[in-house]
Amino acid sequence: MPMTLFGPISICMRTETIQLQHSPSGTRRELQVFRFGTVGARPKAYVQAALHADELPGVLVAHELCRLLARAESEGTLLGEVVIVPCANPIGLSQQLLGHHIGRFAMTDGSNFNRNFFDLIPHLDRALAEAVIAPTSPSVAAIRALMLDAATTAMASVTTEEQSLKLSLLQLAIDADVVLDLHCDSEAVMHLYTLTPLAKRTQPLGDMLGAAVCLTAEDSGDHPFDEACSRPWAYLASRIPGLSANCLAVTVELRGEQDTALTHAPKDAHALFEFLRLEGLIANATPTSNATTAASTTITAPLAAVEPVIATHAGVISFAREVGANVKAGDVVATVTDPMTGTAREVRAGTSGILFARTSRRWATPGKRLCKIAGQQIIRSGKLLSP
Ligand SMILES: [Zn+2]
Repeated sequence: MPMTLFGPISICMRTETIQLQHSPSGTRRELQVFRFGTVGARPKAYVQAALHADELPGVLVAHELCRLLARAESEGTLLGEVVIVPCANPIGLSQQLLGHHIGRFAMTDGSNFNRNFFDLIPHLDRALAEAVIAPTSPSVAAIRALMLDAATTAMASVTTEEQSLKLSLLQLAIDADVVLDLHCDSEAVMHLYTLTPLAKRTQPLGDMLGAAVCLTAEDSGDHPFDEACSRPWAYLASRIPGLSANCLAVTVELRGEQDTALTHAPKDAHALFEFLRLEGLIANATPTSNATTAASTTITAPLAAVEPVIATHAGVISFAREVGANVKAGDVVATVTDPMTGTAREVRAGTSGILFARTSRRWATPGKRLCKIAGQQIIRSGKLLSP
C-alpha cells in the first residue's frame, strides 16, 4: 500500500488496480482505485477525475480529497465508503499528438470519452415488474444489485478498450449514493451539471464550491457519465410510487483547463469534503467551514437555456467579456477579425445571462463555439451538450 501518498495517517485506505480489456497487443492500461472507509458501508460516494484526460484541475482536487479522507479515516469520523479514481482515463492520458495532449476524444474513432455510457434503463424491467406485482416497492438494495448485474453482464460483450474503460467506471459508481465527476471547461468559472430533479440537493455543493451556475436537464441527450448513474433512478422513481432518486450524480466543472494553481485544489477539495459530510459520509454535523450557512450564490439554469455563441466566419478572436460576466442580449462578447478581408465583426450575445465559459483558442472557424451563456429562457432542444 503506497502509504507515502497521503502520509502515515492512512491506516485503512486500500488501493485496487483494474486492468482494462482489449488493450493493444503488447500493452496494458490500468485504473488505480483508492477506497476509504468500510466496504459496503453506507452512504457510498464515488469521485472520479479527468475522464476527459486533459482536464487536470480535478486530478489535483481528487489528490487533496484523498488527504482529507485519509485523515478522517484515521480519526474515525469517516462513516460511509468513498471510492476515488483520480485519473479515470488512462487511454486519454496517453494520447499525445505533435506535442498536444488529446484527452477529450478517443484518437481511435473520435468519440467523446464522456458520451454514450452504457444505458441501464432498458435493463430495469425486472424492478418495474416486481413493483407491479409486489405490495411494496423493490428495495433500493435490490435495485442496486440489479444495476450491478446488468453492468457486469454487459462487460462480457465489450469489444474495445474504450468500452471496457466506460463499463469499469460505471461498475465502480453505479451503486453509490453520491457520484461526483470532476471535469473542467476550456476557460470557465466554476459550474455544475445535474439532472433537473436533483437540482435542490445539488445546491449546497454549488454554494460550497462557489459555483456560478448549476445547469440542469431531464436528459441532455448523449448519455454522459453522471446521467448514466442518475437517470436510471429518475426513470424508476417516475414509475414506482414512493421510490426516490437514490443517486445524486453531478458533473463538476472546476473552472478552466489552465486552472491548476495549487491555491485552488485544497479549497475545492475541502468543499467536496464538507458536501460529503452534509450527505452523511463524515461524522460531526457541524461543518468546519461556514460554507453551508452562507447565502446561496449558485444560480440554477436549464441546460436548454444555454446559448453557445457561434462564430460565423474565420478570424482572430478578441474577447470583450471575461468569464463570469453578466451579459445582456445584444451585448458584444467578442470581435472576430478576418485577416483576408480586413473586416472585424462583432459577435453579440443572443440571450441574457452569465457568460460562464469560453474557448481557450483564439482562431475561429465558421461554426466554432466561442463562448457559452447561461440564461433562463429555453432556446434549445435535443442534444444539449457540447460535442
Ligand atoms: Zn470534461
